[in-house]
Amino acid sequence: MVLVKVFTFNLFAENTFVIWDDETKEGAVIDPGNSADEEQKVLTNFISSKNLIIKYLINTHCHIDHILGCSFVKREYNPVYYAPEKDLILLENAQIQAEMFDIIFTKPPTPDQLISEESDLSLGNSQIQFLFTPGHTPGEYCLYFENEKICFTGDVLFKEGIGRTDLWGGDYNTLINSIEIKLLTLPDDVIIYPGHGEASTIGYEKQYNPFLV
Ligand SMILES: [Zn+2]
Repeated sequence: MVLVKVFTFNLFAENTFVIWDDETKEGAVIDPGNSADEEQKVLTNFISSKNLIIKYLINTHCHIDHILGCSFVKREYNPVYYAPEKDLILLENAQIQAEMFDIIFTKPPTPDQLISEESDLSLGNSQIQFLFTPGHTPGEYCLYFENEKICFTGDVLFKEGIGRTDLWGGDYNTLINSIEIKLLTLPDDVIIYPGHGEASTIGYEKQYNPFLV
């Protein structure tokens, strides 16, 4: 079984996820947004308290609020770092993104692996599927655990909202298309964990998301 812990970090109130298999203790950090020292402490204390082995560091996409903690997590745990290929330009320009918001941070390392829909990752007894969902950024992926019925939707789909499309490389029609084809086709009882705000379900969003009804 995959367990999920959510931290809300940095000035963008970004959701950083630690997920792990409760039997093997293999874990992953998704979109580490930790920036301040206290946030790093909260993250490492939690990982230590659960005795987790951090196997992967995964970015759904490479906006600044989702990558602030990448260099720290890589240095601390040396996980295999996965990032979307079409967001590499955002990673390369991370410093420019940071300066726009007066943020001081350490540039993320070069990813070890590029994500594709064929990427086949296991976390203990569970399989991670990558769903290509561009539109908020050109390269974004959602992470889907079919057996556990959970999906990390990054900044693609929020509770009662969708990702903004006015930033570099964003496109509204592409985003709506990604949501309709890749996410709304999942079972209604799949829990979604967005990159900002509260969790929800696919069924709830089909019914109440004002951008989709
Ligand atoms: Zn974003």
